[in-house]
Amino acid sequence: MNLQELQKKIYQNKVNKGFNVTDVEKEFCFLYGEVAEAFDAYRKKKDDLGEELADIAIYLMGLSEILNIDLEKEIENKVAKNEKRVYKNINGTNIRIKEADVQ
Ligand SMILES: [Mg+2]
Repeated sequence: MNLQELQKKIYQNKVNKGFNVTDVEKEFCFLYGEVAEAFDAYRKKKDDLGEELADIAIYLMGLSEILNIDLEKEIENKVAKNEKRVYKNINGTNIRIKEADVQ
């Protein structure tokens, strides 16, 4: 199963279970909540860190489907863009000195 199929499956599960698929602001809040849960699991060395990280991805993919965004394509494009960026370390901070020349 690729990411696009997974994204659609996550969205369909929301629909099937009667969860929110219309209030985008609420979904952003839930996504933030999952990030906080993952951070809490990390700092408290809980066993469910992996599951909490998965929740972040699930909410992100659900939100992407609600917004009709192909997250797999967006990630591939952004990774390619990031790979072409050039940075220079100035006083311990990486400063971007060249923008990617991909679309
Ligand atoms: Mg969670």
